[in-house]
Amino acid sequence: MTLLFFCKKIYRCSMRTLLSTLHLYKQSNGGDQVTSQPFDLMNDYDVIIVGAGGAGLSAAITAKDSGAHPVIFEKMPTVRGNTIKSSAGMNASETKFQKKQGINDSNGRFYEETLAGGNGSNDSELLRYFVEHSADAINWLDSLDISLSNLTTTGGMSLKRTHRPSDGSAIGGYLVKGLKKNVEKRDIPVVVNADVKNLVIENGVIGGVRVVIEDGRERVIKAKTVIVTTGGFGSNRSMLSEVSPGLDRFITTNDEGSMGEGIHMIQDVGGAVRDLNHVQVHPTVHQESGFLMTEAIRGEGAILISASGCRFVNELDRRDVVSKAIMDTSEEFSFLVFDANVKTRVPAIGFYQSKGMVYESQTISELSKVLNIDCSVFNNTLNKWNQAVKSKTDIEFHRSTGMDHRLSRAPFFAIKVAPGVHHTMGGVIINTKAEVQSSKGVSIKGLYAAGETVGGLHGENRIGGNAIAETVVFGRQAGKQAAMFIRASQTAHNLPQK
Ligand SMILES: Cc1cc2nc3c(=O)[nH]c(=O)nc-3n(C[C@H](O)[C@H](O)[C@H](O)COP(=O)(O)OP(=O)(O)OC[C@H]3O[C@@H](n4cnc5c(N)ncnc54)[C@H](O)[C@@H]3O)c2cc1C
Repeated sequence: MTLLFFCKKIYRCSMRTLLSTLHLYKQSNGGDQVTSQPFDLMNDYDVIIVGAGGAGLSAAITAKDSGAHPVIFEKMPTVRGNTIKSSAGMNASETKFQKKQGINDSNGRFYEETLAGGNGSNDSELLRYFVEHSADAINWLDSLDISLSNLTTTGGMSLKRTHRPSDGSAIGGYLVKGLKKNVEKRDIPVVVNADVKNLVIENGVIGGVRVVIEDGRERVIKAKTVIVTTGGFGSNRSMLSEVSPGLDRFITTNDEGSMGEGIHMIQDVGGAVRDLNHVQVHPTVHQESGFLMTEAIRGEGAILISASGCRFVNELDRRDVVSKAIMDTSEEFSFLVFDANVKTRVPAIGFYQSKGMVYESQTISELSKVLNIDCSVFNNTLNKWNQAVKSKTDIEFHRSTGMDHRLSRAPFFAIKVAPGVHHTMGGVIINTKAEVQSSKGVSIKGLYAAGETVGGLHGENRIGGNAIAETVVFGRQAGKQAAMFIRASQTAHNLPQK
């Protein structure tokens, strides 16, 4: 017994020494600053989380708070993912912030509008779970000091249910910073430059991952559970054109890390996928930079005009409808037009201005010259729009949201936009416990997925604001279920709990 104890101790010490000489670093953030601290990687964890976006960070916090010991592997040098780019906000229904502002929403209405947005092809069970846990997700973030109290609208939603930071700024940076702070507070290691290559599966149960870390060597790290939160594949050109030929003509808004690796890893261990051909093309992308012009600009009152100066669509219709309408104009681009008041209500515009993407003029006549549009046509378009706002009736295109304010205060602004690849709605199949489903329709034990890696929630078309909500709702669920799975296995094996 004693000999065995010492052998185990020597083995653990030597493994620890070996691994600590690998000069691994975990990421830590003091405010916005990213610093690195030396960190000893263990060779066995309760939970390995692959990918440090909104879903991964939410899963890690919840797993830890549920009594498990997680580690996060992130292949990029910093924590960001597509999550940091998100702008408009996070959708949720029946929230305390909606109630405070007198917005009479319901989970049923949120369900129906999301289902209509996805052409009825959404996974109804995931969608039901999603809407019913959306308000709780907002409360959970609030409890982590991530307060999303300001409300706006996105395309396809009939009322204000898109939650964003109190000053109306873009959600991404604020959310990632807040989640990172909470990850750090709980001392959860985030190993950056850790590129996970495969999942390890033993007798049908997840056993860990094969990962390349900094020194370029591949090693296997064991885990009782693995949560895959690697995001979508909006930056993988060949995968995009494989699933939907022709998409490679569009620019992408996605982060370079969005390569779809998690989907392939899960397929390799027998996981099922759906809807990979459902790729969202967003209508308002600045083509020279690939920056998405947040939907909140339209939600706060901007209109879209063609190169000839006329409106041509309900600007807050679904993204697929608006994108198609732009591609159907003869020039295949559009100008997003707004006034000084919209700019005040959408602080992200200041950032776009600092990057030189925004045309600005003191008068409509000056702006029409800059855009090379007939001034009388432009004036006529604005007058008609302001009349529609006043009467709350858009006879031409039946817009009914983002019509609270006229476009009338100088200076006036325009941003030239066209569609770009934005979101991959397809992905791996999970159940409402975030358990990955095999192609035979059973859960793969110990394997979970959440966020953009997953398919089904959005159906054929994602509603703006629903993806961030998805990462938080199902990231939390994956973290909680992984911790429960570990507890149940420990009880089954009668092992002492950690
Ligand atoms: C410009 C833009 C604006 C958006 N605005 C909104 C919005 O306002 N509201 C909304 O609801 N949605 C928005 N979205 C969509 C939303 O941001 C994403 O769907 C969501 O953030 C995805 O989160 P995630 O955690 O699933 O993935 P990500 O945030 O993409 O994180 C995945 C992480 O996994 C890492 N990773 C990938 N492969 C590996 C690997 N093999 N090993 C280790 N790590 C790996 C990646 O590097 C990445 O850090 C926007 C998207 C973009 C691009």
